[in-house]
Amino acid sequence: MKYLFDHIQNVNELFKTNTKIILLTDYDGTLTPIQESPDLAILSEEVRQILVKCSLDRTFFLGIITGRSLKQIKKLVNIPKILYAANHGIELEGPGIRFSSPEAKKARCNLWHIYMRLFQALHHIEGVYLEDKGYTVSLHYRLVKKAKDVEFIAKTLTSITKPYVERNAIFLSTGKMVYEIRPPVTWNKATTIQWLLTNYFPLNFGENTLLIYLGDDKADIEVFHALKNKELTIFVGNPLDTSTAEYYVHSPEEVRVFLEHLYEQKHEVQNECPQ
Ligand SMILES: [Mg+2]
Repeated sequence: MKYLFDHIQNVNELFKTNTKIILLTDYDGTLTPIQESPDLAILSEEVRQILVKCSLDRTFFLGIITGRSLKQIKKLVNIPKILYAANHGIELEGPGIRFSSPEAKKARCNLWHIYMRLFQALHHIEGVYLEDKGYTVSLHYRLVKKAKDVEFIAKTLTSITKPYVERNAIFLSTGKMVYEIRPPVTWNKATTIQWLLTNYFPLNFGENTLLIYLGDDKADIEVFHALKNKELTIFVGNPLDTSTAEYYVHSPEEVRVFLEHLYEQKHEVQNECPQ
């Protein structure tokens, strides 16, 4: 991975050679710093304003791709007429699309049982936050201080979910200090983006379009892998972390600087070549 701001000329070249931009970004840890509690990850007004400008500009097609529920992410971002791919793509909503996976709907009953059993077993542990996101359940342990509690959480999760995992009734994944209990669907961020590229984006976002993807966690690394060498992929975080993105930036603050730069550059290009 290369540090994005050391290679900004190459990136500017990509902006110049492509007339349109599909800008897809993760939310937590990418647009906002990771917070102790997910409820505290509020989008800064500066970042929101850049995203609003992009959403109103015909050069851009903007999408937020997140593990959060649709309801939550729409409330946090609060920008109309953009694409929201929530719960790792299980719920999609945007211009001309409103979708939730039927397989995921079927799995809700199992998820609800697991949620209740996890709640029973873990609610006495200080710092555990069990989040029912409708189609998925997140078990956050960022605030759990004792190592033996963290171990107990992992063991409890394994024993409760094992029968479901064994018969492929649910799917487990991990993120930053969080376990995700997901329905057994093939949808993830990477497959969702591939589907959107083939079936969804408007025709004028076909040729001469640059896809930019920004993300900071394991689910985003799957996207980088799927898009490898084809597009502009940017990892947010420590460059020593395993990631197949082309570039990295250190923090959501640097993401803000990049987004401002991107918007300014595309305007510059538009001014040079009026349509
Ligand atoms: Mg993230």
